[in-house]
Order: sequence, then structure tokens, then C-alpha cells
Amino acid sequence: KKTDNQALVIFGASGDLTERKLIPAVFNLFCGGFLPESYAVIGVSRSEFTDEEYRIKVVFNNEHLKGKSTATEENLERFAKLVFYQAVDTKNIETYGQLKNRLEQLDQEITTKNNYIFYLATPPSLYQTIANGLAENGLNGNTDGWSRLIVEKPFGYDLESAKALNKGLLCSFSEEQIYRIDHYLGKETVQNMFVTRFANSIFEPLWNRNYIHRIEITAAEHVGVEKRGGYYDSSGALRDMIQNHLFQLVALVAMEPPVRPDAESIRNEKLKVFQSLRAYTDQDIKENVIRGQYLNSTVRGEAVKGYREEEGVQDQSKTETYVAMKFFIDNWRWADVPFYIRTGKSMPTRVTEVVIHFKPNHHHLFAHDSSLSNQQNVLVIRIQPNEGILLKFDMKIPGAGFNTEQVNMDFKYDELSNVYVPDAYERLILDCMQGDATLYARGDSTEAAWEFIDPILKAWENDESIPVYGYPAGTWGPENADNLIDGENMNWRYPCSNLTDDGN
Ligand code: NAP
Repeated sequence: KKTDNQALVIFGASGDLTERKLIPAVFNLFCGGFLPESYAVIGVSRSEFTDEEYRIKVVFNNEHLKGKSTATEENLERFAKLVFYQAVDTKNIETYGQLKNRLEQLDQEITTKNNYIFYLATPPSLYQTIANGLAENGLNGNTDGWSRLIVEKPFGYDLESAKALNKGLLCSFSEEQIYRIDHYLGKETVQNMFVTRFANSIFEPLWNRNYIHRIEITAAEHVGVEKRGGYYDSSGALRDMIQNHLFQLVALVAMEPPVRPDAESIRNEKLKVFQSLRAYTDQDIKENVIRGQYLNSTVRGEAVKGYREEEGVQDQSKTETYVAMKFFIDNWRWADVPFYIRTGKSMPTRVTEVVIHFKPNHHHLFAHDSSLSNQQNVLVIRIQPNEGILLKFDMKIPGAGFNTEQVNMDFKYDELSNVYVPDAYERLILDCMQGDATLYARGDSTEAAWEFIDPILKAWENDESIPVYGYPAGTWGPENADNLIDGENMNWRYPCSNLTDDGN
């Protein structure tokens, strides 16, 4: 695809995300030869830096670039020449003039053709202010170039704030210019889910209520809240993981085939999934949504703090670090197939995977052992780490009789030699540079996902009787979550970090 000459303007340039993810992603694009002939990165935040000081901070002294084999002195020097800095207090409308002047001046020097990506990586309370400030200074694409806005998560705090943010941004930018980033969609295996379903003739015919028993999605983190306790305490797992990342996975696994593999067709189908979610009643929320919080514990001989002891977290905090939920998608394909999703911090391992449990055979020819009677074919799509796909199926144990055993057929991404797998941010920024919004969330589906989640937030806020279950750090969460799964001998998959080992 063609990439126009352009500039990336990062708001929140002195922050953690810029240094950890954004600059390394652009550096990788630079090393891979993906940047256009004329290109610039302009960092914007309130702190004062000269261009040179900023280059030292985010390029030469950036710990997240240092380990890369491509980070040679020569590459860093060449890349640093593309990086500039402008101090702006985005709350002060007057200072946008200075930014505009600086962009115009750079445009003369570097000929970025008035094409801009404005990346919003500031506190979310500033997103709308920045969009307005840009528009008031004619930087919203009304000149002879284009402007795009990348908006970081969180996209809203609840349904009302998400709607207000959409409405506010749309006063200054059109929907086609707004790229709501969800870095899960930039992950190679997430995109591969789309290909697995729609490029292979063997999966899609089975991908429905006739053959699928249940769908399970797990996103477990091994770490706790680390240094982000203050931020996390006002957010929680439902907002931080479920409403955005896990629901994007739900949409990809459940959507109908799009008419074309383009942004609008794919996003139309994803929206329909969210619109088909069966709304929870108050009773459903009590029965089908489990929230938990990690407690102090000893993990592999080491003392681990409980959530309420973490820095920045309130003593009596009810913020959930774990959520498991069961829900249904009321449409032709998925009627009565339960979806189970869970996410948590301080779990035994770091793993994200989608697990498709197929229905057992209706007649068990070989089921001599009652523990085997529920053996089901399982397809595991591993998002991270050790990305890959695993199919579990029964085979005969060699020897007399027809004893069976479940075995694995697997594909692992790291076995593809010489294939470079781009980081999620790298992939997504390149897509935006080329005007491709396929892997970004659209405003209507963001609101539709919030519509489903919002009643849970309200119930947790208002109904004191809904418990926050404790779970020892380093475990798979509250035991009550096991009761969510219907069916005899049915349980969550308890994966190891290695794709092919299960059960820890
Ligand atoms: P951070 O380290 O606190 O950085 C915030 C940035 O915003 C700083 O550069 C700050 O710079 C700037 N800023 C604050 N007020 C400003 C103002 N009035 N005018 C101009 N700049 C201002 O936060 P972060 O962790 O990088 O996160 C940034 C955003 O990305 C947040 O919305 C966060 O939710 C989202 N996000 C972060 C991560 C992550 O891993 N860090 C992951 C996903 C999403 P000055 O103080 O110099 O002005």
C-alpha cells in the first residue's frame, strides 16, 4: 500500500507509553523501510525539552530501544534526525498556535505535505480538548493535507462518558478520521483468527451452535498492578480488559463472514455481534459475573502483596482485579451457546487464549471410562505468549482394544523461520499511516460494547450485596468462577505458558 509523506504528532510525548511503545514502534518501521521519504515525529507535552534533549530521552537513552539488534549507532543517529519536540499545554488554547507554526515550519523543511497523524497519549480527560484545539487551528484536515486522530484507551469510563467522548470528537473530526486503538487487534494471532475461520474450509462449517458446545476466552496476567495502582484503582478489570480487548476477541470469534475484507465490512459484522449480546438482568449479573481481588500470598517461596496493599490503592478498595463472566449472543449462529470469558492479575502465568470446545459425539462408541465420556475436540487459539493454534483430538492408544487418548496437533508462530512478526503498535501505526482503519474500533461498536457492560458497573456500584471474592495471588481466581461453567466434568482450561501443556 502507498504511504504518503506525513508527520506523527504525539501528545503525551514525555509519558510512559510514548517511550515504551510508540517510539520503538516507529523505530521498527524506520528500520524496516516502511516510513515514507519525508517523515517526522513531533513530540508534544508540557515539559520543556529542546529537540536534542528530547532525542536523548526517547531515542539514545530509551531502554526499550537498547536491546534491539537494529539499534546500531548509525540507525539511532539517522532515526533521531526525524524526531522533534514542541512544548504545549493542551489545556491552554493559545499554545496550539505555537504548535501550528512549528508544524508549518517543519513542513517547509521536511515536506510532510500537511498530512498529520495526531496520537492522543495523554490523560483521557484531555482527548476532547486536544481534538477541539486542533480543529480551531485548522489542523483537522481542512487544509490541503489529511489529518487522522489516534485515540488511546480508555475510550470512556462508562456508557455515558463514551458517548460524550464520541460526540465531542465528532465535533472536530469525522468518524473516518478517528482511529480508536486497541492493541489486541494489532496482534498477529488475533488477525489470524479471522484467517483461520474464513480461509479454511474445515472450520467454518462447524463454527456454530450445532457443533460448538461453548467458547472460552482467558486473558491472565502473572503480574499484579505493579506501579500503576493509582490508575488501576479507578479502573478495574472490567473496564481495563473486558470492555475493550476481550470483547474485540469475542467479536472476531463470533462475527459472520464480512462481504469483503475491508474496514467497513468487517466492522459492520463486529457491531452486529455487540448488538446481539443478551442484556443482563440484575439477577444475571449476580449469578453470571464474578469479580475478585488478589490477596497476599506466597508464590514460589516469595511473599506477594495483596491488591489493597499496593501503592496507590485504597485500603478498602472494591476495585476488581479479576472478572469471570458467562453470557449469550442471541443470533442465528450462537443461540444458547455459552461464552465464558475471564481476566485477572496475579494469576499463575501470563496467557491469553481463545478456546473453542466442540460438542462431544452424540454416541460414545469408545467411552468405556466415565472420565473420558466428556472428551471433546478443542481448538485453542493462543494469542500470547508462544502464539499458535492447537487442535486436540482423540487417537487410539496402540495395542489391544480401542482405548483412546487425546493428542495435540499444533502450529507455533515461532517455528516460522525468517518471518518477522511486527509488534502490535507497529502494525497499527502503519495501518493508520496508510489510512486503513480495519484493525481500529469504530465508535458505534465501542458504544454497543459499553451498553452491555454498563449495567454491571452500575450494579457493582449500587448493590452492596454483590461480593468481591478474594483469591490468593498466584492462583486462578475465586473458586466461585468454576461454578459458572455448566455441565458435568466441565471446567475452564488451566493453561501453562507453553501452548501444548495444559493443567496447572
Ligand atoms: P503518563 O506517563 O502519565 O503520560 C501522560 C503524558 O501526558 C505525559 O507526557 C504528560 O506530559 C502529558 N500531559 C499531561 N497533561 C498535559 C497537558 N495539559 N498538556 C500536554 N500534555 C500533557 O501516561 P501513559 O502511561 O503514557 O498513558 C498515556 C495514555 O495512554 C493514557 O490515556 C493511558 O490510559 C493510555 N495507555 C497507556 C498504556 C501504558 O502502557 N502506559 C497502555 C495503554 C493505554 P507533561 O507532564 O510533560 O505535560
